[in-house]
Amino acid sequence: MSVRVRLAPSPTGTLHIGTARTAVFNWLFARHNGGSFLLRIEDTDKERSKPEFTQNILEGLQWLGVDWDEEPIIQSERVAEHRAAIQTLLDKGLAYRCYASESELEAMREAQKASNQAPRYDNRHRNLTPEQEAAFQADGREAVIRFRIDDSAEIRWNDLVRGPMSWRGADLGGDMVVARRAPADQIGDPLYNLVVVVDDASMAISHVIRGEDHIANTAKQLLLYEAMGLPVPTFAHAPLILNAEGRKLSKRDGVTSINDFRSMGYNAEALANYMTLLGWSVPEGMEERFTLKEAAASFSFDRVNKAGARFDWDKLNWLNAQVLHNWSSDQLLESLIPLWHDQGWSLPDDRNWAVTLAELLGPSLTLLNDGVDQARPFFDEPPLESVAVAQIESNGARDALQALTVLLDATPWDGMDVARGQDMIGAAAKTAGVKKGVLMKSLRAALLGRLQGPDLMTTWSLLARISCDRQRLNRCL
Ligand code: GLU
Repeated sequence: MSVRVRLAPSPTGTLHIGTARTAVFNWLFARHNGGSFLLRIEDTDKERSKPEFTQNILEGLQWLGVDWDEEPIIQSERVAEHRAAIQTLLDKGLAYRCYASESELEAMREAQKASNQAPRYDNRHRNLTPEQEAAFQADGREAVIRFRIDDSAEIRWNDLVRGPMSWRGADLGGDMVVARRAPADQIGDPLYNLVVVVDDASMAISHVIRGEDHIANTAKQLLLYEAMGLPVPTFAHAPLILNAEGRKLSKRDGVTSINDFRSMGYNAEALANYMTLLGWSVPEGMEERFTLKEAAASFSFDRVNKAGARFDWDKLNWLNAQVLHNWSSDQLLESLIPLWHDQGWSLPDDRNWAVTLAELLGPSLTLLNDGVDQARPFFDEPPLESVAVAQIESNGARDALQALTVLLDATPWDGMDVARGQDMIGAAAKTAGVKKGVLMKSLRAALLGRLQGPDLMTTWSLLARISCDRQRLNRCL
């Protein structure tokens, strides 16, 4: 049997990390098995679905490197097929119209609550006589369509992650609504559980891989497969993503959308890598840092955990740094340039200057966005921090800086020759009677306004090449 899996996002928001992780698991499973990974846009909630969210989801998947096969299916275009399936259920007596009004259902739930019963539909309209139906219709009542769920039904499946699963019909909340309320001669908008089954069958989906929050839906859907005589796919329920406190990761945790991670400066490769590790553990001997393609080679659900996966920022940051540190300086520069432009900074014509800057900053970046703050002193004159002022005012430091500028006046440094720069530092320190280290520390304080920073000679050379070094020295004299 050929493997065909799908991601079925609802375009009611931007691409969520949980959906993206589900996408990654589907993709890995498809690619491992030489199968197909399909997309189905579940846009049947007309009010909340927006084309811009569909766009965002597709772009987010592309960015992560999760490519799909075939044209995405648009669920709302298939409503005729959904209605036909409901009609068949009605014809077979497996579904029926329920005329109970919202207030009647509310009163039913209140009564259940008062007597400590679990809320459920009490199947009150399951066996209406034709006369009762006619009376409701004459009353002008609209109806939902409900699918019969036998309380004694036993539902079993072998979940690829969770193993043997069983569910009782009695725990599914009574006969399930499959179409929204509509006039009694019509079929209202078909609802999630039914349309998913119809669509998955029509797309010949072999494996349904989705989050654990869908387990109860799976039980309901299995009854629908049976009622419609459709081939049943294999199910795999991936663990939820939890925050550091062990609760489901939510909006309150600040970042949930792939956009958020992207704008914080995480790169796609590290994020895809990290999302794979949210639930999947690598086989022995395999590094935790991998590309999706590498993971696909050994992916299976045997190594997907049942327990919720806690989000670990340190690990994500570590992976992100690993990926950034492996980038070529060109790739790094190309990624940094748009961020620098956003700051209004323009680069000198000499591309080599920018490449050198990217190479200088690269090893200390965890997030790409760190390359903004760290590059700032190369574009804007940084203020002097108090520790830098103290350094410049320390014994002999200002004299040494003064001696350095005298040397620079005599032989302006062309900004290229690091060895000559070092010679000048040696000579100026000697003139001022301080150790070379004192002058180097003071030079860094003058150039960067602080005591920490990247390699001093490269920093000086870059600033000299854009003629900023003298200005920054002068302000300290
Ligand atoms: N549209 C559903 C969701 O976004 C799809 C669930 C499924 O995979 O069946 O949760």
